Formats: sequence, structure tokens, C-alpha cells
Amino acid sequence: LIRERIHVRGIVQGVGFRPFIYRTAVSLGLKGWVFNDSSGVEVEVEGEEKDVESFKKTLESHPPPLATISSLESLRISTVGSTDFLIRDSHKNAPTATLISPDIALCGDCLREMEDPADRRYGYPFINCTNCGPRYTIIEDIPYDRPKTSMKHFTMCRLCAGEYHDPEDRRFHAQPNACWECGPRLNFVDGDGRPSPENPDPLEETVGRLEKGEIAAIKGLGGFHLAVEATSGEAVKRLRLRKNREEKPLAVMVASLETARLMVHLSPEEELELDSPRKPIVLARKKENAPVAREVSPDNDYLGIMLPYTPLHRLLFSSGDFTALVMTSANLSEEPICIGNDEALTRLEGIADCFLLHDRLIHFRTDDSVIRIFRGRSYPIRRSRGYAPAPVPLTRSLRPVIGLGGELKNTVCLVKRDQAFLSQHVGDMENEETDSFFRKTVHHLEKILECRAEILAYDLHPGYLTTRYALEQEERPTWGVQHHHAHAVSCLAEHGLDGPALAVTFDGTGFGEEGRIWGGEILLADRSGYRREAHLLEVPMPGGDSAVREPFRMALSYLYSLYGLELFDRVPEFARRHPREKTDIILSMIDKGINTFMTSSAGRLFDAVSSLLNIRDRVSFEGQAAMELEYLAGDGELGHYPFDMDSSGEPVVINTLPVVEAVVSELAAGADPQLISTRFHQTLAVIIREVLINLKRRSGIGLVVLSGGVFQNSNLLERTVRILQKEKFEVYWHEKVPTNDGGLSLGQAVVAHEKSLSGG
Ligand SMILES: [Zn+2]
Ligand SMILES: [Zn+2]
Ligand SMILES: [Zn+2]
Repeated sequence: LIRERIHVRGIVQGVGFRPFIYRTAVSLGLKGWVFNDSSGVEVEVEGEEKDVESFKKTLESHPPPLATISSLESLRISTVGSTDFLIRDSHKNAPTATLISPDIALCGDCLREMEDPADRRYGYPFINCTNCGPRYTIIEDIPYDRPKTSMKHFTMCRLCAGEYHDPEDRRFHAQPNACWECGPRLNFVDGDGRPSPENPDPLEETVGRLEKGEIAAIKGLGGFHLAVEATSGEAVKRLRLRKNREEKPLAVMVASLETARLMVHLSPEEELELDSPRKPIVLARKKENAPVAREVSPDNDYLGIMLPYTPLHRLLFSSGDFTALVMTSANLSEEPICIGNDEALTRLEGIADCFLLHDRLIHFRTDDSVIRIFRGRSYPIRRSRGYAPAPVPLTRSLRPVIGLGGELKNTVCLVKRDQAFLSQHVGDMENEETDSFFRKTVHHLEKILECRAEILAYDLHPGYLTTRYALEQEERPTWGVQHHHAHAVSCLAEHGLDGPALAVTFDGTGFGEEGRIWGGEILLADRSGYRREAHLLEVPMPGGDSAVREPFRMALSYLYSLYGLELFDRVPEFARRHPREKTDIILSMIDKGINTFMTSSAGRLFDAVSSLLNIRDRVSFEGQAAMELEYLAGDGELGHYPFDMDSSGEPVVINTLPVVEAVVSELAAGADPQLISTRFHQTLAVIIREVLINLKRRSGIGLVVLSGGVFQNSNLLERTVRILQKEKFEVYWHEKVPTNDGGLSLGQAVVAHEKSLSGG
């Protein structure tokens, strides 16, 4: 007989790890105990050596689905003659490192029970177990125990309590455990808040309404969805109108992987992610004859698709005859997603025709995640439900620091020791509702992680609400972090790199130095600092935000820089599209510098070319013009356009006017816009290569990180990675956090930590 003490670290709490240890030990005839301690799970097992060995092997090879083991250490100790195996109480006063699990989609075992007429939870919309169900969205405080969740309002029945306390049951300590007898219930009301007189079954009533083309507000895991049949163009159009969302693509939910395959082209990696316990929205290429109304994602090559992730979603599909349902966050344009019943009835009045409610409170709103697969690996666009708040591991411990994010697609990131906890998607910080959700998020993260930030990191933009929040905090030190530096370090940090690296950070807008608007930056950056080595030529951005909404303003700006007033003769087609009265006003804004900023933004260059090609002069959502330009581009190389590099001063200025000039003359010569778009994409990749080759020659650095919202463009990303790898650069892009401003907070936190060490 031998005895070993085994210490397991990682995501091992609240994921059914102790019952798993218990079952494994008992099945091997081992004696001893297990408990949660401050940094993971501690086990002692006593038995024959071969059984102890196979115990450890099982731990590593078949842990519970939601567990992630980061280390397993064992130590031989003297035997004590234990006679049974026990799950001991956790050490109450030890500082906890409990990692709160993200919300997890319905598991296979629960699905089978829900579909089994003989099971006591047959058709129960809130079935869950240790391996699945709500977590982050229902937690009010730690420790993660039922009284600290929104399940505290439900008292478990005898059977549920029996499961909950039985270490051999798969619902042992499943905090949201519930059944028909004792748990949450559905409730249906119509648009006026009245229950349906005819049909007592809320689910059937909702299904019937959806089949009639009505818009239903459905309470889900992290908030309400607005749902309509995705095959009905009429219904989708009505939803867009009421939600005030003209063209931005809507996500759809389909019953199964088989239906998903009818809608979009799926690689094995995309299927794996789509059907993972995280169940994100996967952006995949739409099929030619996808059975979905055009209005769902007009003029868009991609479709955001997801599988049912709650038991209720499953029941909707099994009760109704839907090919696909549009499932979009229930909110008005950019406000935060609705979570409360009363809130939904008020805020969604006039939008939803009916409401499918339930009485399990959503404590913390969380939107659906959106990911893409790039080169077989996950490329997050929005990291939220199913991912948050699982930490991004860092290579070393930092001081408690919080990155507050930027303005659009905001997230916050609290670093505790060597783990970076990014919040769920907070949203666009453009209104009071989002600002208050942001403040709640900061507070909630600090509470559930038991970690108050000592340092706050914010963007240099003085107008951001996140910046204002930072500067209100008088008792804590704050550090401003330049936007593109934060992008660069975010990519370094998620890969465990320190740099220095050559960082290509291309995005729409970021506050630079001296009050200028940057966005086409090539930096030499490490965790503590950066040097701006090169940038795209600065051009006037007339009208500030109006220039973002109206890409033709950027086209006009480039043309004006190129040709002056001759532009009207040089580019007659463009001139014809835009009345002279309007263009004259914009040109005089440029001349006089009224509400006009100089910008080196790569995003705005994409906008200008999109407008020149008459793809889009005005957008109804951020990035639309660039996105449509991307969809036009082919995969081949087909040559590139000329550009100049002015290396006389520092930083190097990449003159993009010859690029625009070449686009104009090819257009005039009647070239195919598809060819022009392809060459334009290739030109940017070539620009990046040329600048980096020069920088590498000078600095000897071959490590490259690619970050910033423009790299959501997978055509550009693929070209850039390919062209740089050919030149033997070591290239990294994002895999864990978004390349857009949703990943900013991670970089901010790391930079602020470094700055605080060096005093600036
Ligand atoms: Zn389950
Ligand atoms: Zn029960
Ligand atoms: Zn950015």
C-alpha cells in the first residue's frame, strides 16, 4: 500500500471535479479524501501503487468536460490507513482562487433526460447538471453556492436535494439544480403584457406565434433575444424596422449541425467550435442556396450561425417546425441587452409582439459570443457567453490592475496574479445605459474575483466614458495607455510573449499622440513602451464621426489631396454621384480645418476605396463599407498598386496617394471592381512586408504581431500572414481575445502594470 498527496490546479472548482475524483477513487478501491483549497483541489489517495498510478492517469486523460488542469503535482507520503473515501468541506477561510465557470450549453446527458418521456424532467426547460447550465449569469457573489445565485428564490424539492447532496450523482453540488416540481417556470404574455387566454402552454403559444411570423422576445441565459422565423423575409424586415437596425447582419439559430451545413460552408474546426459547450455564433461563408431570407444578412458573404444552447432553445425547435430562427440581442440599436422581465416589457414595447418569460433572474447580462475560424484556430470577434469569465493565462504574476477598454465593443480586464479575466462584451460606450453596465461590470468582476484593482488603465482619448471613469477614481493610480500600443501588447500577452515585436496595428480610430487620430500604425513595441516606426499618410477626415458614417467623405478627402479642385474633372463618375453643394461644404471644412482631423487610419482608407468603387458611400453600421470591399476581393495575388515610402524623417510615412490614384485610373479604364479590390488588399500586404523588411534589417527583430479591427478582414489577414511567413517572419495574430477594441483592455492592463513598475 502507498499514499500520495496530489494537488491539482486549473479550472477545477465548480465544474464537478470533486465528484469525479470521488467516483474515480471509489471505482479503483482507493481510500482517502478530496477538498477544494485556495488554489485548486487537494487529494490524498491510499491503495495499491498500480491503482494510484491509474487514478492519476484518469485525472489527466478524462477530466470533467468543463475542467482544465494546468498542473498536477504528487508527493509520496506515509500511509494512515484510511477506510473510506470522503469529499471534505472546503477550507472556508482560505483565500479562494475559485474560478467562476462561464455559462455552459445543455449537455448530452441532460438532453437525453429532457427528451425521455419516462424521465421526471421530461420537457423541462431549465434542466441542468454539474456539466452544464447557467453559471456566470446567475452569480451574485462568491463563494459560488446556491444562496449566492439567483436560484436562491427556489427551494429544492426532496428529489432534487437528494441529487444535490449525493456525491455519486451527476448533479452533486450543481447549484442551479431544479425540476418541474421546484424550479423556474415559463410564462407567456402578449405585446400588452396580458397572458394568452386560449393556450395555457407558454412554449406552444410562443411557437404558434413565431410560426405566424410574429416577433417574440425570448428570455434566455444572458439576456433576451428577439426571435423571428429566419425564412420569412417579411418578418425579418419588420424586426429590422422595429429594432432600428437597417442592414447589420443578424445571427440565426438552427436546430442541428445538419441544418447548419445547409446554410454555410463549415470546416471541421468550425463545426467543432459551433457544437462546443460554449456554443458561440460562428461566422461562416453563406451557401448559395441557404434556406434563409436575404434580409437576414443582406450583401454579406457570411452568416452568423449558432446551435441551441439552452434546454428552452431545444424545446422551441422540437415543438415548432422552424428551419432557422433569427435570434438577435433584444435591445434598441446599441443599448445593452435586456435582462429583466419588467425591463423587457417596457423597453421592448412596440418591438416584440409577444414575450416568453421565466422567473429565474439573470443577474449579469451576457451577450452571445461571435467567433471566426482562421487557419484552423479560433479568431474571436466578440468574446462573451461561454468564454467569459474564463481567464487568459499570463506568463507571470502582475499587480492587481484593471484595463477599462476603449469605447466601441468595450470589455474590461481585471488581472489577478497570472490570470487575466476579461469581462463579457459590454458594448459601445455611447449612452448612459452602457456606461452604467460598464460600471457594474467593473464592480462585479472585482467582487467575484475578490480582487480590487490597485491600478487603472485607460485609453488616451479624453472623450471616452471609460477615460472619464478612470479619472474619477481619485484614490487609485491611473495610467493612460496609447490605443495601438494596447492592441499590440494584447496580442503579445495572449501568446505569452514579451516582445519587442514589430506590431502592425490597423484599425478605424485610435487616439494618438499630440491629439491626432491614428489607425495605420507600425510600432516597435514591448510590454512597457513603443516607438512609432511607420504609419500611413495622414489625410483630413472631414466631419469627424460623420466621415465614419459617410465613407464618400474619405474618398473626397483622398481625391482632394491628389488632384485639388481638378478632382471633379478627373473623377467625373464620383463627382456625378455627389451634389456639388455638399462636396463644396466638405472641401471648405477641409480648407478651414473645421471639425476636421488628420488621420492615418487604415479603416478610413478602406472606406475611401469602397466609396470610389461605388460599393458604399454611406454605412448603416461601423465597418460596413470595408466589409463589402473585402467580400468583393478574390483570393489570388493579381499584382498590387504603387506606393511611396518617405523615410527622410521619423516615423516613416507610407504615402498611399499613389494607391488611390491607381484605383482611380483603373476604374476609368473600366477594370473589374473585383480585380481592383483584390489588388488593393494585396497592396496593403505588400506595404506591410516592405516596411517590416526594412525594420527587421535595422532592428534585427523578426517577431510580428497583427492587431486592430481592420484585421477582422480575413482576406487581408490571410495575405499578410502568408506574405510575412514567406519572408521568414514569426507572425502572431489573435486567438483568445478579439483583434478589435474588444481585446484592448488586456493590453492596457499589462502595459499599465509595467509602467507602474518603472514609474512611467
Ligand atoms: Zn447537463
Ligand atoms: Zn426539484
Ligand atoms: Zn482599435
